[in-house]
This record gives sequence, C-alpha cells and structure tokens, in this order.
Amino acid sequence: MTDFNLSPETRKQFFSFVIERLEHYYAATANEKVTPELTRDAIRTYTEIADFGHPFEDQKALDHLLTGLEQFAVHTPHPAYFGLFNPRTNFLSILSDLITAVFNPQLAAWSHAPFAVEVENYLIREFAVKFGYNALEADGVFTSGGAESNLTALLCALNAKLPRFSVNGLWGVPQMPVVYCSAEAHHSLHKAARITGLGHDAVRSIPVNERQQIDIGQLSIALKKDITEDLLPLMVVGTAGTTGTGAVDDLIALNKLADQYNLWFHADAAYGGGAILHPDARLWLDGIGMADSITFDAHKWMSVPMATSMFITRHKSILSHTFSIRTDYMPKDATEQPVIDPFTHSIQWSRRSIGIKLYLSLLFFGWKGYEEVIGHQIAMGDYLRWQLKKSGWTVCNQAAMPVICFTDNFLEINDDFIPYMVHQLVASGKTWVSTYPVHGRLSIRACITNYDTTEKDIDMLLNLLNIERDKYRA
Ligand SMILES: *Cc1c(COP(=O)(O)O)cnc(C)c1O
Repeated sequence: MTDFNLSPETRKQFFSFVIERLEHYYAATANEKVTPELTRDAIRTYTEIADFGHPFEDQKALDHLLTGLEQFAVHTPHPAYFGLFNPRTNFLSILSDLITAVFNPQLAAWSHAPFAVEVENYLIREFAVKFGYNALEADGVFTSGGAESNLTALLCALNAKLPRFSVNGLWGVPQMPVVYCSAEAHHSLHKAARITGLGHDAVRSIPVNERQQIDIGQLSIALKKDITEDLLPLMVVGTAGTTGTGAVDDLIALNKLADQYNLWFHADAAYGGGAILHPDARLWLDGIGMADSITFDAHKWMSVPMATSMFITRHKSILSHTFSIRTDYMPKDATEQPVIDPFTHSIQWSRRSIGIKLYLSLLFFGWKGYEEVIGHQIAMGDYLRWQLKKSGWTVCNQAAMPVICFTDNFLEINDDFIPYMVHQLVASGKTWVSTYPVHGRLSIRACITNYDTTEKDIDMLLNLLNIERDKYRA
C-alpha cells in the first residue's frame, strides 16, 4: 500500500529540500522581478504537465510546485510591492502554518482542540481590550477574512435587531432592512447583503466628504428618507482605513447616529485596525470601542499568512444567538466547566486553527515588536509622501495611514498619463503600484504593506517615477 507517511529518511530529505528553497526565496525576495511575465497559456501548460495517473517520483513533485510558485506570481512579499494589503509574512507565522498542518487541530468543538480554542479565545479577549471593549463582556471569533467578518457582522445585526430572524429569516420581516456605509466602503458588504438575502440594493453607499469619510449630513438625510418610506434602517458601517485611500470615517459621529436611530454600528477596520497597536496611530481610530462589532484582518497589517481575520463584538450573547444549533453528532463538552464550541459561534464548522500563527507571532515578537514594525511602515508612508512632494507630485488623499494616492497636476489632464505610468512601473519588474480614483481623479496608489520596505526602496520608486514622467513629457 502507498505509504502516506514516507520513510523517516525521505521526510528528512524532503524537509531539507523544501527549507532550502524557501529560505532562498525568503532571503532573496528582493532579487525577484515583482511581476514576472504571466501568460495564461504558459501557466496552464505548466500546471497541466502533471498527470495524476502517473505521479512524479522523488523530489520532482516538490520542485514542480515550488517552481510554479516562484515563477508565476506577483511577488507580494517583495519590499517594492506597494500594493494592496498583502504583507510579507513574518517568519514565526510561517512556522506556525507548518505546525498547524502537522497537528491539524479541529476547531469545531472545544473538546477536540481545547488548547487551540483557548488560544483563539485569549487573542479575542486581548484584541477586544486593545480596541476598547470590556474583556468580560466581549466575544468574538476568528474568521477566514474581512469578507467573512463583515458577513458575520450583518448576521449579528439582523439577529440583534430582529430577534426571530434566525428562525423565520426574511419571511418574518415586514420592512426591508437597510445597511449604510460610505461610497468608499469595501464591497464585501454588498456581498454580505446578497448572501443574507437582503440583496445588493439594501446597501446605501453614502457619498464621502473631502477627506473621503462618510458624509454625516448625507447619511442623516438618507436615514430620514428611508424611515419615511417605511424601510428599516438596520446597520451602519464605519470604515477605519478604506481600501482605496486609507480614510477613517468619523466613528464618534456614526456612533451617535447609531444610538439615535437604533442601528447596529459596525467598524470595518480590516486594514486600519493595525493602528491600534501603535500608541500614536491608535488615536486615528478614536471611537472604535463604541462600535457594536469590529472586523480586523491580522493577515493585512499584522504580517501573518492568509486567512486570518477576527470578528469582535461587545455583545456577549449575539454570536450564540445567531449561530448556535444543537446536534447529536457533535462531541459533547468534555468537562463540566462552561466552554463554548466555536461552531456554535461562527459561519464555519470544521475548521483549522486560525489563531495559532498570531499567537506564536505575539509570543515571540510581543506587542512591542508590532508597535515598532507598524511604526516603521507609517514612517515609510510619511517618507514617501515627503519625497513625492519634493519631486513635484501631488498627493490626492489625506490619510495618515501609509496609503498614498498621487498624481502630477500638469500631466493628469491627459487621460493616458496615469495608466502609462503604472504600466511602465509594473512592466519594469522593479515595483508594483495600482491606480485609484480619488474624487473622480485617477491617481497612482502606493501602499506600504511590507515591514521590510526601507527608504532605499522608496528612493528607487521615486527615481522610476521621475524617469518615466520625463519620458512621458518628452
Ligand atoms: C480587505 C478588506 C476587506 C475584505 O477582507 P478580506 O480579508 O479580503 O476578505 C473588507 N474591508 C476592508 C476595509 C478591507 O480593506
């Protein structure tokens, strides 16, 4: 019979083979082209060379996989990847993923993986306190990402405001529930509206002000109008660090409105929540502790591998009210002590430990380590802004977070200027940036999302930008 264990010698050999290749990539990521040539047909051909009827022997399978990952990907761990919120992963969190795969703890029930469950519970309490909740009142669950956390928030809002929602669903709801967020909010909220059956149109995208924050005046008008039309305002979402420009909504004003209109107030801090770990930056999130619930993705600013997000709430019983189901096949609690089975608090059922990688990262680097690394990325963002202004670029957004949208005031009247610049930069293989419209003006968007990014990388980016701008002018 095929031996899935392999022999101890083969395991050792495979371990060293993989570790050598990984160490090479990890140590020399900066030598990669950030975006190599990625042609679909070549990648498909490479993928389909593998014939599962005639599996590879020896290390060929490993080599095939590693080579595919090395060659055919945007290298997001590269220090000059100024991209979406995809971090370089810290080394301890990488080890955690291997460790997790070996033990494969089953986190549906407490009794099967009590240590791994308690690790997650402890982290939820610690982060709840960081965000300003009372540890005894707070509850939460690890999820696969911001999208799942935001969906969890909408389900909690429905169950909190419509007590029979979990039984009757939307059939028992006489008025159409409405969700409010800014036009800059993440579209996972629209997806959540689709999944819950509210539908896409139940989400009101409220215009933003000069600072890309939700316009509170317009929000009030929308609320009043919906009430007049006999709809049911259900939830308002404040984004703390928008995906496009890093803007933080006025969370204190949103909380006030939420109180006034009896709304569930959710703070989507998927990216920006990391600011809570820095003594100065945490002030940007003022008011977040008043939110009924919070989304925070550790796989963004905390440099751990995907898929690591947290949904945290200050309402102890809402997750259980929303998700708890009794079954006969699930193991019963192993102890007489009150414990919570994660499957009664979450969308997922069988699932991996999500928290272990964050736990090991914090065990080793501590809060202090994160404070330094997040502070460094903020400083690099400030440095980039400063260098851009020195070279005559205009920064279009006002965020304090290291998300910078910029343009050239003289050249932007040409529709092809920004696309040309981004194309040239990405094609150079030296860096990766994207475009984003700020108040209708297309801009170049560069985000510091890597703890390894230094002034040298930013100087290189500026140099490229200035050279390509000169070429465009010529
Ligand atoms: C990234 C992001 C999300 C979605 O999170 P995923 O982890 O990609 O599922 C939601 N909201 C905001 C503000 C984000 O930046």
